[in-house]
Amino acid sequence: MEKDPVCGMLVDPRDAAAKRVVQGKDYYFCSPACAEKFDQAPERYTAPQPVKPKGDE
Ligand SMILES: [Zn+2]
Repeated sequence: MEKDPVCGMLVDPRDAAAKRVVQGKDYYFCSPACAEKFDQAPERYTAPQPVKPKGDE
């Protein structure tokens, strides 16, 4: 299973609604809506450590 980087859901690559390849890495999505969000800001989801919350100062 692969993790949908947008919503965090686990997605079976064979059954994914959408897929993107960024810098040689595959990303799978549970729905076209998640893929759309990803397209709008790929760097937001492909950052190595997307854990830190922003704007919390
Ligand atoms: Zn999703």
